[in-house]
Formats: sequence, C-alpha cells, structure tokens
Amino acid sequence: MYDVIVVGTRVAGSPLAMLLARKGYKVLAVDRASFPSDTPSTHYIHQSGLNVLKSWGLLDELLATGVPPIRRLNFSYTGIVLQGFAKSSPDVVDAVYCPRRTVLDNILVKAAGNAGAEMIQGFTVSELVFDGDRVVGIRGAVGDGAEQEFRAKLVVGADGANSTVAKAVGAGVYDASPAGCFIYYSYYEGVDWGMQHRTGFGEQQFASWPTNDGLALVAVMRKRDRFREFRTDPDAGVQEIVDQVDPEFGVRLRDTGKRVEQFRPMLYPDNYRRQSYGPGWALVGDAGYHKDPFTGWGITDAFKYGQLLADLVDEGLSGARSMDEALAEYQRERDAQSASAYEMALDLSELVLTPYYDSVFRATALDAEYTTNFFGLIGGIYPPEKYFGEQELSALYEKVNFPVADRHVSKDGVTA
Ligand SMILES: Cc1cc2nc3c(=O)[nH]c(=O)nc-3n(C[C@H](O)[C@H](O)[C@H](O)COP(=O)(O)OP(=O)(O)OC[C@H]3O[C@@H](n4cnc5c(N)ncnc54)[C@H](O)[C@@H]3O)c2cc1C
Repeated sequence: MYDVIVVGTRVAGSPLAMLLARKGYKVLAVDRASFPSDTPSTHYIHQSGLNVLKSWGLLDELLATGVPPIRRLNFSYTGIVLQGFAKSSPDVVDAVYCPRRTVLDNILVKAAGNAGAEMIQGFTVSELVFDGDRVVGIRGAVGDGAEQEFRAKLVVGADGANSTVAKAVGAGVYDASPAGCFIYYSYYEGVDWGMQHRTGFGEQQFASWPTNDGLALVAVMRKRDRFREFRTDPDAGVQEIVDQVDPEFGVRLRDTGKRVEQFRPMLYPDNYRRQSYGPGWALVGDAGYHKDPFTGWGITDAFKYGQLLADLVDEGLSGARSMDEALAEYQRERDAQSASAYEMALDLSELVLTPYYDSVFRATALDAEYTTNFFGLIGGIYPPEKYFGEQELSALYEKVNFPVADRHVSKDGVTA
C-alpha cells in the first residue's frame, strides 16, 4: 500500500512524486512513456517557474546541460515593441531558460527516483480501482505484460490534458473556452535572434528562442480556420509569417535558417479547469488546468501548483487536517493564483489586441520602468494587480502623455 500513486511523470507528476518522497512518504509514480522522452510542447520556462526549480535544487543540473541563458526578451504586437527584461533581484533567477523537454523531463524523473519514489516507466494505467466512490488504486500494465494493481491512500492524475484519471472519476470542467489557434514548431540551425515573441500583421505569431545543442526553436501560430491551408506547405507558411511580422527576420530566416528536425503540428486542446479533487484522488498539471500555449505558462504552473499540492497533501497525510479540506484548498488557491494569467492567455491568444490591451501595451512601450514591469509580469514576478492597476495605468498614461480617448484602465472600456 502506497501513500500516493502519481500517474504521469513529466513536469507535473515527477516534482510531486519527488516532493512527497522527500517528505518520507511511500510514493509510486508511473508513466506510459520511457525517459528520456519528447512530448509535443515548446519549452519556455518563466522566471517564477525557474525559481521553483531552483528551490528544489535542480536548476544547476539543468544549466549543466548547456541550455543557454536568455537575458533580453523581444515582444511585439503589430507596431508595439517591448524589449528588455524584468528588474533583477537576489531572490529571482536572473535569466530565462528554454530546455528541450527530453532534457528537462528526464532531470525531473531522475530527481523523483533519487528522492525515493518508486518509478515505473512504460506502464499504462488502464483503469482506477474504486471502493464505493473512493479511488483506492490503479490497474495497468507495462506494454503487453500482465495486468498489475497498486493501491494507495491518494491517486494523483498528472497525466496531461487527456487524463485517464480525470475521465475515470468523471471530473467536471469549468471556466472552459475553445482553443483559438494551431501551432507548428521545429528546430533550426542558423537562427540566432535570441528570444522573440512577435504577434500581428494579421492574426498570426512567431516565437523563437535558443535551446539545447546549439539549436533554436521556431514556432508559429495562426487561427484554426487556416490549419488546412497551412499544412500543405509548412516551410513556406513559417517563412510567410516571419516575413509578414518582421521582414528583416524573414530575410535572416531565408538566408541562414535551416530546419533540422521534423515539424510538430498541433491543434492543441481547449482551455479549461477541471474539478481537481475528490475522494481518494486529485489532478495536477494539465490534467486539472490547461491554457493556451501562447503565453508559455504550462510548465511554470505545473511546478508552482505541484509544489502547492505536495504541501497540502502532506497536511492531509500527516493528519494536520482532513485530506478533503487540504485538497479543496489546493484547488481554490490554484484557481485564485492563476486567475490573471489564465485570463491573459485567453485574451492574447486571439492574436489581435483588444482596445484595452492595445492601450496598455502601447503606453507601456513608451516608458522604460513600465516596460521592466511588463517583463516582471510576464515572468510571474511582478503582481498583475499592480501592472494592470487602474491607478498605476492612469499614472502611466499621464506620464507618457497618452491620447486621452485611448486611456483604457479596465477591460470594460472605462477610460481614465
Ligand atoms: C504546442 C504546445 C506548446 C507549449 N509550449 C509551452 C511553453 O513554451 N512553455 C510552457 O510552460 N508550457 C508550454 N506548453 C504547455 C505544457 O506543454 C504543458 O502545460 C505541460 O506539458 C503539462 O505537463 P503535465 O506534466 O501536466 O502533462 P504532460 O506533459 O502532458 O505529461 C503527461 C504524462 O502522463 C502520461 N500518461 C498519460 N496517460 C497515461 C496513462 N493512462 N498511463 C500512464 N501514463 C500516462 C504521458 O505519457 C505523459 O508523459 C505547451 C503546450 C503545447 C501543446
């Protein structure tokens, strides 16, 4: 009998297994994948996510893989250019890193095993074991092997958007919203533009950043109704988007960029939150909460809320309070802490700025201090209630002498 079984051992599951094993609990973590293993996901990690990784003692191991630091970020939205980095502070990792998932996930799997969690790779969970309405275990097998059953006080689904655990318990969805875009990405030689996140000149975006092995990731997004047309010639489509968003980068991509891996195309899942706990079960990572990859928050959130869940499960298992209460707090806190980032991911993934965001970002670009705050917001280290605060925005508009008719201080259209 285990204290906790974790299904899925990537960026949500392995940290949870590691943290609980470090606290001395008996943990089993299974994944149908065998590591190192890739997954369809780009891999930008925000500073707040890197801070969590550092607190676990795993940042140095990541840096030892040679993943390059990024200390200047370049964002644009049709004619609005924001360049810089968050204000430095001794408590915050002073760079952004974008490691390949083959690299990152493997470090996390190993860390969970080193902490004492029992790890089974290549194990597919086919169903949960119930006692009445309480989940008490999992059933599954390694490949075509014999079916095995394991029991635990708590089963956690860290098994991604298509979560077997969520389906088995019938976890309801709330705050859902359809995905806006499709994504295509691949890896390139000869692309040395640092970190770019460029949106506009039509409903489209390209992003790129350096990653492991001297390669750069280049990703493009457009609205879903253009997916069929795009897939007929993705190389031409990528070139067209970069040309239209920034002709200078278009020339550089054509002249020196060389794609060295296959494309990863994806109509990614809708945005949602799921009921993330019940008798004997919980959900973490994308299994419980998924948002558009436009803002690159999935890994950071998996770390942050994996830590939150580990702390609260500890309270439940140690008897400090009831597991039900602890898990209810997990979901409440996760939803409250992620509310602003969730809303922003949904709004910005429309690929066209609303008048509100247009005014806020346009004014931001006119002020060096507010631009630094923007990068703090993006990194998860500057409070959204301050960056988007009505008083703060009014002061910004005044300071940069912004046209009065465009001074949006709230999303409902109110102007200062
Ligand atoms: C195209 C795209 C780009 C993205 N870009 C970024 C980015 O730049 N930055 C960022 O932070 N986030 C990004 N994200 C989001 C990020 O990928 C996810 O938020 C993150 O991978 C979620 O991690 P997870 O551990 O919850 O689930 P997953 O990474 O989905 O892992 C789930 C694991 O569960 C296992 N599993 C599933 N079912 C079973 C079963 N029945 N039995 C056993 N094992 C099972 C799977 O094998 C898998 O290993 C992107 C997502 C997409 C789709």
